[in-house]
Amino acid sequence: MSSEDVRTHTAVHVLKGAVQSVLGANWTASTNVSGSHGRLTVQFDRKPTDEELARVEEAANRKVSEGAEVLEFEMERQEAEGHFGKQIYDLFPVPETVTRLKLVRIPDWNINCCVEAHLDSTSEVGRIRLGKPRFRNSRKELELEFELTD
Ligand SMILES: [Zn+2]
Repeated sequence: MSSEDVRTHTAVHVLKGAVQSVLGANWTASTNVSGSHGRLTVQFDRKPTDEELARVEEAANRKVSEGAEVLEFEMERQEAEGHFGKQIYDLFPVPETVTRLKLVRIPDWNINCCVEAHLDSTSEVGRIRLGKPRFRNSRKELELEFELTD
């Protein structure tokens, strides 16, 4: 991954925490990163209001301003599930044969099983600007496009 991709990928975790805290949407269906552009797809049951989206964007940027630590560590799978629960997973399954997990954690914000590279601090992410969201009712999926503007 390029350094820009690492930055945008780290922004996905920041945004995921914001989506969890503002909308209560917990399951990530997919993420996609290309340069300063990213997309987070979460399981959700309706199209959020403009006001909710503004709150998601605001919460994400507040976490960037805080300069929170982004911690990477490994744990036995069973221990990780016992400690953090199923919220560490996305909707794409981790194979049964994997017994040790790589985790990334932004304290009090987001924890996710993830093997990608990350920045050390959210302060390096820069400003996150959400684009127009897309809601797929048939799949109950909300797609959030974003751009890093700094
Ligand atoms: Zn990650």
